[in-house]
Amino acid sequence: MAKIGFVGLGQMGSAMCPNLIKSGHDLQVFDISKIAADPIGELGAKVTSTPREAAQGCEIIFTILPFGSIVEDVVFGTDGISEGMGNGAIFVEMSTILPDETRSIGKRLAEQGLSMVDAPVGRTSTHAVHRKSTFMVGGAKHDFERVLPFLECMGEAVTYCGELGSGATVKLVNNYIAAVSNLVNAEGLALGLSAGVSQEIMVEVISKTPAGLGHITTTWPEKALVDEESPAFMLDLARKDIGLALAAGSASEVSLLTGEAAHEVYNKASAAGRGHEDWTTGIYRTVKKLSKIVD
Ligand code: NAD
Repeated sequence: MAKIGFVGLGQMGSAMCPNLIKSGHDLQVFDISKIAADPIGELGAKVTSTPREAAQGCEIIFTILPFGSIVEDVVFGTDGISEGMGNGAIFVEMSTILPDETRSIGKRLAEQGLSMVDAPVGRTSTHAVHRKSTFMVGGAKHDFERVLPFLECMGEAVTYCGELGSGATVKLVNNYIAAVSNLVNAEGLALGLSAGVSQEIMVEVISKTPAGLGHITTTWPEKALVDEESPAFMLDLARKDIGLALAAGSASEVSLLTGEAAHEVYNKASAAGRGHEDWTTGIYRTVKKLSKIVD
């Protein structure tokens, strides 16, 4: 069993540490808040006074903290993790921060001969409590293999994403999609509520269609993901339907700002001659072109 350093014992850290302890590992933990650290100490972890002390003598050190600037300070500040890490130890950064921040921290550690992977976490702290987190990992493949058994103590799916910072990139993509579709759900249900339809009925219907099930795993595999343009549903018809929703929303003063932005992009796709393509392939091709990923 390993000696593990763990810094950041908020919603996520406090949910993850008990699973490492249950797996038989020895923990040295630190948080600036004593209120956060004490309950983990009561489970058997050694509560330390600095990040350096938490890292000392450990084979692996985890952080899960609010922002990149805090991670940087916890690693390189006075009494930081980098001062406590021994040769051969590995640093695993799990916070949601910018890929550039991740790479910058990794570069500075590498200059000191120290290893790092980024392993941001999918799902919420409730999943973390039940060991149902997912991890997206960036770094050298041999470092990924070293940290994998420890991540498996805290979650049920660990995906290797590529070089350092790739985990942070996949996390941004994941949270962008999740957070924006969260808003679209709110806008859509508000539109139905304003017309007097019950929330339960809408949820019953939507949970059986791509709207509720999610596009990436339903409509995209046979179309957008393989660049197949023959339409299962034509882009121009989807464009018409957004227009209908916007007209209904405007009449009943429902806020559909995401829909307005989406309509603009569908209009661009149609103007570029993609109206008869599949809605998924046509919109993916349009966004890749607007983003200069393709000519
Ligand atoms: P949180 O605010 O609950 O916990 C952060 C912890 O860091 C707190 O206990 C705080 O005292 C501690 N902290 C702050 N500055 C510190 C410092 N200088 N030294 C030591 N400890 C310090 O946040 P959280 O929900 O646990 O999220 C942590 C990270 O994980 C964030 O980047 C977040 O985006 C990400 N994340 C959160 C969830 C979630 O469901 N909560 C899910 C996935 C990812």
